[in-house]
Amino acid sequence: MSESPTNTPKSPKPANKKKRKRINVRKPDVMEKVEAEVKSHYTSSIVEKIRANGGEVTLGKTTIKLAQQFGFCYGVERAIDLAYASRKVFADKNIYLIGEIIHNQEVNRQLSDMNIVSLPWEKMDEQYDALTDNDVVIVPAFGAPTHFIDKIEERGAGIVDTTCGDVMKVWRRVRTYAKEGYTSIIHGKAGHEETLATASHAMGVDKDGQYLIILTLEDTDFVCDYIRGKVSDKDLMARFGEKNVSKGFDPAIHLKQVGVANQTTMLKSETEEIQRRIQQAVVDRDGGVKNFQMFDTICGATQERQDALFDMLKNHMDVLLVVGGYNSSNTAHLVEIGQEELPTFFIREADCIESLDKIVHYDLEQKKEISSEYSDLLDLDANVTIGITAGASCPNNLIEATVLRICELRNISIEDLKNL
Ligand code: SF4
Repeated sequence: MSESPTNTPKSPKPANKKKRKRINVRKPDVMEKVEAEVKSHYTSSIVEKIRANGGEVTLGKTTIKLAQQFGFCYGVERAIDLAYASRKVFADKNIYLIGEIIHNQEVNRQLSDMNIVSLPWEKMDEQYDALTDNDVVIVPAFGAPTHFIDKIEERGAGIVDTTCGDVMKVWRRVRTYAKEGYTSIIHGKAGHEETLATASHAMGVDKDGQYLIILTLEDTDFVCDYIRGKVSDKDLMARFGEKNVSKGFDPAIHLKQVGVANQTTMLKSETEEIQRRIQQAVVDRDGGVKNFQMFDTICGATQERQDALFDMLKNHMDVLLVVGGYNSSNTAHLVEIGQEELPTFFIREADCIESLDKIVHYDLEQKKEISSEYSDLLDLDANVTIGITAGASCPNNLIEATVLRICELRNISIEDLKNL
């Protein structure tokens, strides 16, 4: 048996904690109205027509192909429904949201227009102290760290929890690791809402668990080198810093027994490789796997969208457009997959396609929006096949706008599209 992590003090439960006020806003009459409203905001008849046409349409010299799976997932749909329902059920109350409901500016703008006020998600500020038992706070689809929830409960505000069930599955897993004395190695982005929340759950119910967050294969190899005794404690801590480890993390103690979990929206192939490398390092050190656990927590929706893109890439396309919020992890991974094969542009909306040879898009390497000229990719005289996909947080109306923008630039009649 390895030593259990012991150097993180247990946090006392808040003495003045009020009774939980989890609220169910899913009332049949409310949901009927919500459904109609959500449909009017985010669906698209044109996207449905293209889907009904096998996901592909050719008009003149232009072919537009849609991935078999893209856009809103079940977790996102549920979160949006619950946010809309909250406004209806609590018409006269202050409603707050921790950060963004999902990573899509169009959806977040709609909620802001409903006077649902976003609170900081990286750190709590005085707005959390000012909450009252007459307020309602929506927890987004990615969840929120446990100390945020504790604070809201302590203030007595009502909570509408839209955390996706797939995210909660990861939390259950890392809490089990903590209970069994295993440190969670979380494959995810330290600055992502879901990973912050997962890290808080990795501390376990008693807050004495430990975690280490890694993002890349290079991070993984560094940790593996540490496990094999080739890297010092000091160098490991210097690489990962405070942001990526739990309070009191001591690699000499806390990397003896490890369990790997991942943010639900990572690239599956990369997560599998990370699991494999860490397992091998533990075997090399211990001669067996008893000090290693793993659990694939990539969600079904992320997986389906990645698989659909791999399928799509088997056939010719000249260019791929990936539509979604620039801070959306699952969307960024679709871009990574695409750009291995063909010119791929990560756009947040249709207007990013400024002209037939100029596009504004997010560059994953530079981590910023840039403008690119792509010469004859969409040449009017050439036959062109344009692929479109989108992450789990992108509504179909944004896909429709992208299709319409392509039609406008390539002189395709919208009527032709509508008459499919
Ligand atoms: S992307 Fe996956 S984890 Fe996130 S909300 Fe959708 S189904 Fe849930």
